[in-house]
Amino acid sequence: MRKFDLRSLVRSNIWELKPYSSARDEFWGDEGIFLDANENPFGNKNRYPDPHQRTLKKSLSKIKGISVDNICIGNGSDEIIDLVFRIFCEPQKDSVIICPPTYGMYEVSANINNVNIIKIPLDSNFELNVDEILSQNAKCLFLCSPNNPTGNNLKNIEVLMNEFNGIIIVDEAYIDFSDKPSFIGRLSEFPNLIIMQTFSKAWALASARVGIAYADSNIIKLMDKTKPPYNVSRFNQEVALKALSKPKKFERRLKVILEQRDNLLKEFTKISVIKKVFPTDANFILIKVSDADKLYNYLVSNKLIVRNRNSVISDCIRITVGTPKENEALIEALKNYTEG
Ligand SMILES: *Cc1c(COP(=O)(O)O)cnc(C)c1O
Repeated sequence: MRKFDLRSLVRSNIWELKPYSSARDEFWGDEGIFLDANENPFGNKNRYPDPHQRTLKKSLSKIKGISVDNICIGNGSDEIIDLVFRIFCEPQKDSVIICPPTYGMYEVSANINNVNIIKIPLDSNFELNVDEILSQNAKCLFLCSPNNPTGNNLKNIEVLMNEFNGIIIVDEAYIDFSDKPSFIGRLSEFPNLIIMQTFSKAWALASARVGIAYADSNIIKLMDKTKPPYNVSRFNQEVALKALSKPKKFERRLKVILEQRDNLLKEFTKISVIKKVFPTDANFILIKVSDADKLYNYLVSNKLIVRNRNSVISDCIRITVGTPKENEALIEALKNYTEG
């Protein structure tokens, strides 16, 4: 395992923090007369949820082959990102590295927390600039692989896991669509690694807001004491748990999406308005056209909503893989498009 001094990276107020002790910390279970939390005794939504999401963690632990002590559940990955800033970054003092074009929340969350951002852009092949990253002095490094909106798995993550001296966050929101393995299996080697996953994409539960951090138990302890105690509602814990109990449904849907992705990739090469189709390891495809704004407006006027990324990568549009019917409608519209 890498030598690593966690304490030197954690804000002292968080290191010293005594967490809120909730009634449900002291006693948890179904049996008993509960007069401890000032809940209303009537109704069936009257009880606070499990602040430690024990049942959900147990299920994830089995599926991912990792201890429950290495899991923190957030109100979406967005909450996990915010927790990273609050735990490790002193406002107006510490810096984090992000590698654009990438997921926008790292920057927004840094700004909310008043934390300095160092941008080390991906190169022309959308790969990491490792030397540039290692030459910086930063508390945290945010990597997204497969990356949003470019769609590719990043090479050289492992070099950074070995060499970067701060906390390294690998956002694996799209890992289930990729044929590369997750870094979860490597956690025991890297005490400075946080892996983020989510129920929002492959698990089809974006409306439930359930995100996950996998990390060394010492990092998880800090996350658990810093998060709001009841951050994930009982209903959201339950739908996530239910999804995990239906692996066949998950696999079936995943297979359709991957088949549809291959088909879209093939069809896109035949469409003249598309100048370039970028390779993808995710459930979306980035394309380059000659005038992204124009094509975007045309598609919207046909009630086809895609993501115009012209502001981040010039003349690029990000298209999510939909159902077979939705994708057919998209292809049809693209075929009928004439630049003029
Ligand atoms: C969609 C997405 C997420 C998911 O965020 P949630 O808050 O869990 O819905 C996380 N990271 C990236 C890069 C994404 O594109």
